[in-house]
Amino acid sequence: NMTLRIDQSLLELLKEELTQAKKIILTSHYNPDGDAIGSVLGLYHVLKQQGLNAEMVSPNDFPTFLSWLPDASNILIFSKDKLRVEQTFGDADLVICLDFNGYKRVEGMSYLLEVTKAKRVLIDHHPEPESPFDIKFSFTEVSSTAELVYEIASQLFGDNAINYDSAVSIFTGIMTDTGSFSYACSRERTFEIAGKLIAKGIKVEDIQSNVYNNFSENRMKLLGFSLAERMKVFPEFKAAYIWLTKNDLKKFKYQIGDTEGFVNYPLSINGINFSVLFTENDSYVKVSLRSRGNFPANEFSRKYYNGGGHKNAAGGKSFVSMDETLKQFEELLKIHSNELNA
Ligand code: 5GP
Ligand code: MN
Repeated sequence: NMTLRIDQSLLELLKEELTQAKKIILTSHYNPDGDAIGSVLGLYHVLKQQGLNAEMVSPNDFPTFLSWLPDASNILIFSKDKLRVEQTFGDADLVICLDFNGYKRVEGMSYLLEVTKAKRVLIDHHPEPESPFDIKFSFTEVSSTAELVYEIASQLFGDNAINYDSAVSIFTGIMTDTGSFSYACSRERTFEIAGKLIAKGIKVEDIQSNVYNNFSENRMKLLGFSLAERMKVFPEFKAAYIWLTKNDLKKFKYQIGDTEGFVNYPLSINGINFSVLFTENDSYVKVSLRSRGNFPANEFSRKYYNGGGHKNAAGGKSFVSMDETLKQFEELLKIHSNELNA
């Protein structure tokens, strides 16, 4: 039996809170990815089928490659609809936080998590939860939060509680967080759950196409430009980075989500184990880090970019100019040369 072992009393506590709550909020992190939206929707469809009253909230808009997901249009967007989201938080009894481990990950919406009278539930696969939560489901061994949603929902209500819409959402979360089952999925159980979701009638080819064959022409050209003109490779440190200025993004009519996945490309160069994407916006340089093997991207991000994440996939921010950020980074590569070459 490969089922994830979850403390029974924790599950009972959650079930009690869910059934007593008059309003439940499901939310995830700023700049939501496939796992964030997939987890929120995956659990939403389960709760809805149980006759529970759940509302979904995202701190900001999600990429269009996720907008086809069933009921994605019901997700309230804090950055566009602040009052409505504040009202929703005002009479919620339970807030379920999916795919993030600290309030600051919802950016400008964090005050709502801080002041809410609702009980806070964490469902997440990032290491070391930072903020207070009343009920914590924190498991780093699962591929994705979506996988954890399957485990929790099926242990609470049985496998039948995962309907087709929930299965599509959960599969999308697992698929996107594992790069289509290519990393963070070395456990047999991840594939067993994928099989159980396929048994619900989902079409893997269609989900793949909806997510990955749905880009704009501008996005493809931005990718080409990034690799041809904005990538710097350091074979001596087994590292590479890509940088994109505000102007670059403007030139290619950047839409939210367009740079998703860019950071992975340098890792496919022979001998490159550490890749960083620097993206400039109005307030800071967003830093996105990926590594292969032992180099801890999350520690690097925590130390230098006020961020965090997983060992092989992390994010953070730099508050100096792009030029300064890149110069600093090249110095950091020298400082970390030994670990990068280990
Ligand atoms: P991405 O590079 O796709 O934005 O994020 C990669 C991973 O790092 C994700 O698991 C994400 O949750 C985490 N992450 C991204 N940005 C931040 C950040 O600013 N702070 C922390 N703690 N984690 C982040
Ligand atoms: Mn995730």
